[in-house]
Amino acid sequence: MSQQQRAATAGGREAKADGSLPRPGKEERATSAIKEKPASTIPTLPPPPGLPLAARRALASLSVEIAKSRRSRRSEEGRHSRPKKSKRVVTVDSSKAKTSSEALRICIQQLKWKEFPTGRRLLCDIYWHGVSFHDGEVSCSGQVNKYPGMTELVRKINFSRAVRTMQELFPEEYKFYPRSWILPEEYQNFADQVRVSKENDSSWKPTFIVKPDGGSQGDGIYLIKDSTDVRMLANLRSKPVVVQEYISKPLLIEKLKFDIRLYVLLKSLDPLEIYIAKDGLSRFCTEPYQEPNSKNFHRVFMHLTNYSLNVHSGNFIHSDNVNTGSKRTFSSIVAKLSMRGYDVKKMWSDIITLVIRAIIALVPELKIYHQTYIPPGKPGPTCFQILGFDILLMKNMKPVLLEVNANPSMRIEHEQEISPGLFEYVASPVDEEIKVAIIRDTLRLVDPALKKNCLQQPLATECSAESDKEETAEAEDVTETPSIKEQNLAPLCLKQVFPKYSRQFGYLLIVDRIALLFIRFLGIKGTMKLGPTGFRTFIRTCKLSNSNLSMASVDILYIDIARRWNVIRGDRGESGMCFQAFMEAIFHLAQRRYKNPPLREQVEALVNFCEYQLEAQEERIVLYGRGTAERRSSLAVYQPEGPRSGTINHMQLLNRMSTSNKLPASPLATSVDQQLVNSMSSRVTDCSPAASFNPNGWDNLGCRFCRKNNQSCSVMGLKDVHSQRVKLTQILHPSVTSYFM
Ligand code: ADP
Repeated sequence: MSQQQRAATAGGREAKADGSLPRPGKEERATSAIKEKPASTIPTLPPPPGLPLAARRALASLSVEIAKSRRSRRSEEGRHSRPKKSKRVVTVDSSKAKTSSEALRICIQQLKWKEFPTGRRLLCDIYWHGVSFHDGEVSCSGQVNKYPGMTELVRKINFSRAVRTMQELFPEEYKFYPRSWILPEEYQNFADQVRVSKENDSSWKPTFIVKPDGGSQGDGIYLIKDSTDVRMLANLRSKPVVVQEYISKPLLIEKLKFDIRLYVLLKSLDPLEIYIAKDGLSRFCTEPYQEPNSKNFHRVFMHLTNYSLNVHSGNFIHSDNVNTGSKRTFSSIVAKLSMRGYDVKKMWSDIITLVIRAIIALVPELKIYHQTYIPPGKPGPTCFQILGFDILLMKNMKPVLLEVNANPSMRIEHEQEISPGLFEYVASPVDEEIKVAIIRDTLRLVDPALKKNCLQQPLATECSAESDKEETAEAEDVTETPSIKEQNLAPLCLKQVFPKYSRQFGYLLIVDRIALLFIRFLGIKGTMKLGPTGFRTFIRTCKLSNSNLSMASVDILYIDIARRWNVIRGDRGESGMCFQAFMEAIFHLAQRRYKNPPLREQVEALVNFCEYQLEAQEERIVLYGRGTAERRSSLAVYQPEGPRSGTINHMQLLNRMSTSNKLPASPLATSVDQQLVNSMSSRVTDCSPAASFNPNGWDNLGCRFCRKNNQSCSVMGLKDVHSQRVKLTQILHPSVTSYFM
């Protein structure tokens, strides 16, 4: 609003063309004279009773008007005279920001925050690391822009493993990641599967792309046609690689292959919060694309879209226009595709789905890293992280995920050769437009003032329930806060997609629940491997051993799987069972216990069973008086967001379990847990009665799967509450059948 407009609005009069305010007229002067009198000298008396009705009404309305104007004047005066509380400025330590320093500096200036480019003796609110969580000393408070373990988890092999686990459970949902093999470990598998596929379909002429683990910027990548490729076989001895099906029919623009770099903010791990940037970058090859053949295999400028490679091609175009050149904004591509009649809405929805599913694959192990490096109950920072998703669009517009970068470049300059052999950094408008907005809006979302507001909500669950309600709302509507609006900044460029769309993805969180079981039995904090005792305790507590599975065979299973995984990962010195090995054990136990595939249902049934047993054990502890009052209340109170976001402790885990199976009457539902309940109740057919305990007896009586009204349920089918209680007590606690009757 201009000064002129503001003045006009404030005075309630129109401003003159020259900007000066009109002089008040006679009537107006009279009213202002009344207004000018001190408020206390204008009593608002009731109209004298002798006057005619119309006159009395007029007088009454006048006194109401006067009172109104007095009130508003008082509040105006108060607003001006009250000393403004000085807002505490957010402090950012940028001493480890490396190549993101320039973009970060611009953002901090825009937000009017305070930067400490060489660090600070006192604590800062935010620590910006350029590479990983472990850049230098980790602060004991505040927020860090990296998660511990993320760099390791998105390495090509680890990421392929995490996605593979999900592909085994949800093959349809995880088709967005090309079929991949980890070599040399899976060489035989690779050779066999390719042979079988070729036998089944003689027209299939695949190409594979070989990527060294831990490589980046296209380093060491090459194409092969066959599993017997000599170069690949020779290289296998030196370095493990991921071999992936090559997408040979990508969507082309101006005959060039291109990919999308999309930025994703993982704002919180528990509860899971994901934001996607509404715009990203498109990186173009610099040589017209042809489908791969043995003659063009080696042409990196045709097949690899990496900026770091193509920038060295003579055809690379640096452009100041975001719509042209070898690096453009993704929105310019979307506009182009939309003009050509492509369904860009569907494409965006596929991309959002891909991002959420990929993050769900990463989260379980990330939680294990998190509890190891930032042990619950100990001081430590809260984490958030910007990830770079590399996505390729196929000819049919389906997005394919190539990889996730834990440390996407946030550089906003590019190198330019100003004279032969002499380079300097010059501003890159495309990079600046995209990256500055992403960093700035990430900072806006993690603004500590915002956090305080959210924590002041009566229940953390209310926050997530609220965002869940508005399925179609734009991100800026959900996330805009008064402090952000005050600063007159552009709407957020980051769109919340989780928990906003959590309803559709909750059923994928099964591995997350397995990770919570794993963490629970890890025992000693600071370790990421489950020892033999921990594994035995898990089997015993969850009552998984029976006549079919003796404890001796449990030990053999442990040794067999743990050892094999330690060899695969090269952890020869370190004993114990890693999470991937534990997953394998869970799959094995599930298949053994529940004979009918699919695997996903077998695993889900096993996890339900384990969680049920753990909950029952907790209830028994309370029942026999071994538990304390706090323990009892901890069973009932579930706080998904503690005072330190991202903290996962065992009590929370326990509470998650109890809420994930909670009964319908529980007022403490969170959207994600609600989905788990829904997904379980739709799939699990067995009745499984449960209840929570309070000092007066059973509460929330019901069946965790069938819920309230199912008459075929062994508990809820009974005619009265008393019989239901008797039945429930018999099932859950046979030894105390008379306790509540
Ligand atoms: P790096 O981390 O070394 O950049 P990427 O996995 O991102 O490795 O691959 C580099 C480039 O190779 C990508 O940008 C893309 O152009 C191309 N590429 C990678 N995987 C595939 C694939 N499966 N199909 C087609 N092209 C691919």
